[in-house]
Amino acid sequence: MIKEQFRVTGMTCASCAAIIERTLKKNEAIHSVAVNVATEQATVEYSNTPVALNDLNAALVTHGYTLTPLQAAASSAIGQTKPVVVENSLRKDREAEMQELRPKAVFAFGIAVVIFVLMITEIVLQAVSKEFFIPMHWWYVMQFFLATPILFWTGDRFFAGIVRFIKYRSADMNTLVGIGTTVAYVYSTVLLTIPELQEALGLPETLYFDVTIIVIGFVLFGKYLEVRSKLKTGEAIEALLKLQATTAHVKRGEQIVDVPLEQVQVGDLCVVKVGEKIPVDGEVIEGSTHIDESMLTGESMPVKRTAGEPVIGSTVNKEGVITLRAKHVGSDTVLAQIIRLVENAQGSKAPIQRFADIASSYFVPIVIAIAMLSLLLWLTVGSSLLTFGQALPLAISAFVGILVIACPCALGLATPTCIIVSTGTAARRGILIKNAESLELAHKVTAVVFDKTGTLTQGKPQVTDIAIVSGVRMTKDELLQAVATLEQYSDHPLATAIVNTTRDKGCPITQATDVKEIAGAGVQGVITGQTWLVGTEALLAEHSIMRCAELDEQTAALKADGKTVVYVAQNKQPIGILALADAIKSEAIAAVQSLQAMHIQVVMMTGDNQATAQAIAKQAGIQEVFAEVRPEHKAAKVKELQQQGKTVAMVGDGINDAPALVQADLGIAMSTGTDVAIESADITLLHGDIRKVYTALQLSKRTIRIIKQNLFWAFFYNVIGIPLAAFGMLNPAFAGMAMAFSSVSVLTNSLRLRR
Ligand code: ADP
Ligand code: MG
Repeated sequence: MIKEQFRVTGMTCASCAAIIERTLKKNEAIHSVAVNVATEQATVEYSNTPVALNDLNAALVTHGYTLTPLQAAASSAIGQTKPVVVENSLRKDREAEMQELRPKAVFAFGIAVVIFVLMITEIVLQAVSKEFFIPMHWWYVMQFFLATPILFWTGDRFFAGIVRFIKYRSADMNTLVGIGTTVAYVYSTVLLTIPELQEALGLPETLYFDVTIIVIGFVLFGKYLEVRSKLKTGEAIEALLKLQATTAHVKRGEQIVDVPLEQVQVGDLCVVKVGEKIPVDGEVIEGSTHIDESMLTGESMPVKRTAGEPVIGSTVNKEGVITLRAKHVGSDTVLAQIIRLVENAQGSKAPIQRFADIASSYFVPIVIAIAMLSLLLWLTVGSSLLTFGQALPLAISAFVGILVIACPCALGLATPTCIIVSTGTAARRGILIKNAESLELAHKVTAVVFDKTGTLTQGKPQVTDIAIVSGVRMTKDELLQAVATLEQYSDHPLATAIVNTTRDKGCPITQATDVKEIAGAGVQGVITGQTWLVGTEALLAEHSIMRCAELDEQTAALKADGKTVVYVAQNKQPIGILALADAIKSEAIAAVQSLQAMHIQVVMMTGDNQATAQAIAKQAGIQEVFAEVRPEHKAAKVKELQQQGKTVAMVGDGINDAPALVQADLGIAMSTGTDVAIESADITLLHGDIRKVYTALQLSKRTIRIIKQNLFWAFFYNVIGIPLAAFGMLNPAFAGMAMAFSSVSVLTNSLRLRR
C-alpha cells in the first residue's frame, strides 16, 4: 500500500483532525487517513494508486485546510540519498507562528490582567456595598476602547473561525471563542451607544466588554504557551539532527580535503581527529581509539574501536586519530534510521487517543447546540419566570460561557503531546519505540521472555574444553580444526567462536562440501570424504548416533557450569565434544531483579540443553526456563504464555528470534550497532543493555498515567463548566481563564515525561 505524508495548514485543534479524516475518507481511493494535531501532519494511505495532491486539496478547500507534501521536512530530506544536513521545517513554521502570536498575546494578556484585577475589585466592593472608584459609565467606555483592538486585532484568528463557520459550516475551537466574544462585544456596544434601550427593556447596567478582553487575553496567552511547549516537545528530533557532523576530512589521492558531509560517498576514506565527530557510518581501517557513543545509545562508557571494527556516524572520537572507510551515508546511516523511527512514532496514533478524537469531533457541534438551546430557554422559560430585562443578560452570559468553557483544545492535546515527549525521551536513552501503539501496550506487560544467547549472555562464547573419546586417534587441535571447517559456513555465535579460537591457535581451516546448517541444532558436511555432524545431543540422537557413556560423565559437569556442549560425530560415530562458555552480561541480574520487583514473570528461553540453561538461568536469577526449544518453536512457547492470559514481551536479537518477537505482544530487539530498524521488533534497544527493558516498561506506565490524567482534566473542565455556564453560574470571563488553564496544564503535565 502506498503511503504519503503531508503538512497540514489551517488546523487549529482536534476537531479539525476529525474533519480532515472524515472528508478525505469519502474518496474511495483512500484507504486510511491519520491526522496528528501535535505534529500537524497527515498520513494518507491509498488503496491502489495515489490521489493527486490537487484533488486532495480540492476536497479540503471548502473546510479551509491545505496539504503540502512533506518535502522540506526532516523525514523526507533524510529519506533522499544525499543530504544529511537537514532542517526541521515544522519548527520553522512554529517559530513564525510564535513571531506573529507574541505581540498579540502580550498586548491582550497584559490588558486582560489589569481588567481582571479591576473586575475582582469591583466584585469585592459590591459585596461589601461600597462604590467602585471608577464611575460606571467611564469604566465601560474605557473597556470599549480596550476591547475593540483586542477583538479586531489580536483576535483575528477567532474571527477567521467565525468566517469558517459561515463559509464552510465547519466549526473549531476558534469558532467557539469567536462567536462567544463577538456576541459579548456586540451586546455591550449596542447598549453603550443606545443607553435608551437599556431602560426600555429594563436591562441591568452590566456590560460584557470584560468578557471579550479577558477571554481573548487568556486564551491567546494559553495558545502562546502551547506553541512554546510544542516547540519543546519537538526537541528530541532537533537534538538528534544537531548530532550530525558538518564536514569530513576525506582522502582524495595523496591529499586530505575537507568536504561537506553530504558529499561523502560510500567507500571514501575519512580521517577523524581526536575530539571530532565521526562523519558517517563506517569501518576503522587504521588506528585505534575510544569512542563516546552515549548520544545514540545512552551508554556512558566509551567503547574501544580498532581496525576492522564498525563506527557509527555522529559519535565522538575520544582518543586517537583514526581512518575509516565510509559504509553508509545519507539516509542509510544509523542516525538517519533513528530519526526516521522517532518521527514515525511521534506521528502515529495511540489507541487511547481514538476515544478523545471521536469525542472532540462531536463536541463542537453539540456544544453549539447546547449553547443555542440554553440561550432559547433563558429567553423563553427564563423570561416568563423573570422579567425579559433580567433574563436577557443571563441568556447572553450562559451562551457565551458555554461556548468558551467547552473548547476541546486540551482534549486534543492530551495524548499526542505525551507520545511525542515520551518517544523522544526514550530515544535519548537508546530506546527506539516503533509507534504509539507499542508504547501504550508496554505498560500492560506481565511476562518477559529473554532469549539466552546474545541477550542474557554476552553472545561471545569462548571454547574452554575439548575432549576426545578414548581410542579415537585424533588430537584436540585436529578435532577443533575439523569442527571449524564446518562452522565457517554458519553465522551462529557458537560457530563464530569456534572459528575464531581455531584461527587464534594457528590451525588451518580447510574446505567442506555438502554443508547443511540445521537451525538451532548444528551443522553437517563432508570433509575429505568423511561425514561430520556437529551440534546438540538431540541432533546426534536424531541421526541415531549412539550415546557414549564416557562423554556423558564429562559433559554433565560442564553443563552444570553453564557451559554449552557441542557434540561431534564422524561417520556416525561419536568422537568428542567441545565446551563453550558464554558469560552472562554483568547487568543481567539487575535487569531481571527490577522486572521481578514489578511483579513481572521472567522466563529464559533457549535452544540449549536443559542443564546448561538451568545453570545460566540460576546465575541470572531466573526461575523459569524453556530449554531445548528449536527456533521454529519459540513463537509457540510465547503463544503458550499468552494463552495463560499473559501479556508477553519477548527480548531477543531479532535475527533467529524474529517469529517469536512478532508473536509476542511486545517484541524487543537488541541492536548490535549498525542496524536499528529491526523489522520484527516493536522496540529496539541500542547497544544491548537489557536493563532498558525495565526503563521502557516504566516509561510506558508513566506515559499512560499522564495521558489518563490529561484526559481526566480536559474532560473535567468541560463537564463541570458546561452546566455551570448553562445555569448562568459561571462568569464567562472565568470560563476563558479556566479553558486557557486547562490547555496549559495538560501541556505542562506532558512535559514531565521529558525526564
Ligand atoms: P539460543 O536459543 O540460546 O539463542 P539457538 O536456538 O540459536 O540458541 O541454538 C540452540 C543450540 O543449538 C545451541 O545451544 C547449540 O548447542 C546448538 N547449535 C545451534 N547452531 C549451532 C552451530 N552452528 N554449531 C554448533 N551448535 C549449534
Ligand atoms: Mg539466539
